[in-house]
Amino acid sequence: MDIVESFKKVAIVGAGVSGLACAKLLGDHGIDVVVFDKSRGTGGRASTHRSGDYAFDSGAQYFTARDALFVAQVDEWVTAGIAAAWRGETVRLRDGEVLPGQGSTQRFVGMPGMSSISRHLARDCRVTTGFRVVRLEQDRDGVALVSQDDHREGRFDAVVVATPAPQTAALVRSAAPDLAAVAERVPFSACLALMVAFRDRLPLGFDGAFVDDSPLSWVSRDSSKPGRLGDETWVLHAAPSWSDENFAAEEEVIVESLRQAFVRATGVAMPEPLYSRLHRWRYALPPEPLPDRFLFDATNGIGACGDWCAGPRVEGAFLSGTALAERVLQWFVEGAESRARRS
Ligand SMILES: Cc1cc2nc3c(=O)[nH]c(=O)nc-3n(C[C@H](O)[C@H](O)[C@H](O)COP(=O)(O)OP(=O)(O)OC[C@H]3O[C@@H](n4cnc5c(N)ncnc54)[C@H](O)[C@@H]3O)c2cc1C
Repeated sequence: MDIVESFKKVAIVGAGVSGLACAKLLGDHGIDVVVFDKSRGTGGRASTHRSGDYAFDSGAQYFTARDALFVAQVDEWVTAGIAAAWRGETVRLRDGEVLPGQGSTQRFVGMPGMSSISRHLARDCRVTTGFRVVRLEQDRDGVALVSQDDHREGRFDAVVVATPAPQTAALVRSAAPDLAAVAERVPFSACLALMVAFRDRLPLGFDGAFVDDSPLSWVSRDSSKPGRLGDETWVLHAAPSWSDENFAAEEEVIVESLRQAFVRATGVAMPEPLYSRLHRWRYALPPEPLPDRFLFDATNGIGACGDWCAGPRVEGAFLSGTALAERVLQWFVEGAESRARRS
């Protein structure tokens, strides 16, 4: 990448994998980057839920690496000790039968939890948590972020919105309506996630299972992942259609339905858990992601990235954020060149 004029300021909305991958590459090129997230921590859908002694990967369960750029990144994380291969036995459950899983897939997890990936990406970034952006405001001096309590941050030379598509559409509607129009056509499905801990190991000969024809789509023994300590913990993910239909149901009703589905799928009774917690992912996965790796409006420097652009996985989020950072750097270079020609 050519020389970028110094003192460029970029805001990133969203401290998930895509936003932080974008922030990291921009920061490596000397851009002054600030990341804002509405949550208390980083990681978004690839984060670890902690409660007392318990920790669960409530969203992303593992990641795979196919693209050469992401393969190299995962190698670096493994060398740094913040990710490791998960060698748990993975199967498919169908009609009470246990079928073999896809044996050749190499799966990785963050160590000691999924959040370590975002913490590592964010290590040289300025991250402001607890800041919910409600809209972007653009004028001739740049773009400002407006928070829910009407606080303004900025102005910034460029803004990257790295949130799920429906949230992106709402944020950029007034400042970048064309971008909003594309984002609002990208659907997202929900996921109801049940996290449970038990005193004793469940008598199941596998650690992860894709579940067919059930309210559940995936169950895993979270405690079988490398670096996890303590009791037997499981994460149960409800299938997208079941999650969408039951998203607003009473917690007890959802929990009981998922426990019954687990018993039906595995054939094993579920003992009374030591800990049980339901998480409702409103925007979990985009079933029909865009073919483009990112969206960018070169008239105002507002861009959008995330797994809904490059593929509904941690890898897609990483590649999307990285590709948008390259586009923003190129845009700064183009701006500098055009000013140089005019002077
Ligand atoms: C239940 C579930 C299971 C999954 N399983 C897997 C899996 O096994 N393997 C895999 O590779 N992927 C899996 N994924 C997908 C993976 O988690 C995502 O693809 C990836 O984490 C998306 O990263 P992102 O940066 O695009 O978005 P996100 O992680 O959603 O990050 C967006 C961030 O923006 C913040 N934000 C949103 N709105 C605002 C606002 N208005 N102001 C400020 N901040 C805001 C959020 O708090 C969040 O931190 C799973 C996801 C879920 C939910």
